[in-house]
Amino acid sequence: MPVIALTFDDGPNTVITPQVLDILEKEGIVGTFFLIARNINPESAEMVRRAVSLGCEIENHSVTHPFMDKLSVEEIREEVQTCTDRIVEITGRVPQFFRPPCIAVSQAMYDNIDLTFICGMGCEDWVPTVTAQERIDRVLANAADGQIVLLHDMEWNVNTVEALKTIIPELKKRGYEFATVSQIFKMKNVTPQRGWLYSNVLQTESDNRL
Ligand SMILES: [Zn+2]
Repeated sequence: MPVIALTFDDGPNTVITPQVLDILEKEGIVGTFFLIARNINPESAEMVRRAVSLGCEIENHSVTHPFMDKLSVEEIREEVQTCTDRIVEITGRVPQFFRPPCIAVSQAMYDNIDLTFICGMGCEDWVPTVTAQERIDRVLANAADGQIVLLHDMEWNVNTVEALKTIIPELKKRGYEFATVSQIFKMKNVTPQRGWLYSNVLQTESDNRL
């Protein structure tokens, strides 16, 4: 059975994150949320707790969302550790995966971040003018077994909420199961490699260079 992992960057917030969670809950599926730590406050932390209660996974997307390939080693470590600490405070679980902000990566980042790097197949849903239908078309056209789908639950992103209402039922119709990022590696019997940037857990080494 083909498996796919829906992932959501740039939350948490109290506008779009709960709408995404409503859809995941209604569909009975899980997703993975890569948090920007500076977006965590007492209200948005409740959304994170709800995500965990639904079986979703919480992972690391830095504190301030900088171009981290431009940062010093000390700054790189600070961005990642502080985000990890905040996630542990809320969830009690240590994140295992890291999404580089803007997918900007460097050797210094690979050398100093002790997490598996995740990219994913995107549909430009960080661009407000990309319509819900365009997002649907792109995700469905590119869907594949083992794939990590890169989406955003940033607080203005209603088009992605709309797109999910079609994407999830259509993928189900095509026989897909939905998994978190850690689950999809396990289900496909793949050990996450350090120094790789994953968009599909079944990718080969030649797909993953900087
Ligand atoms: Zn981001």
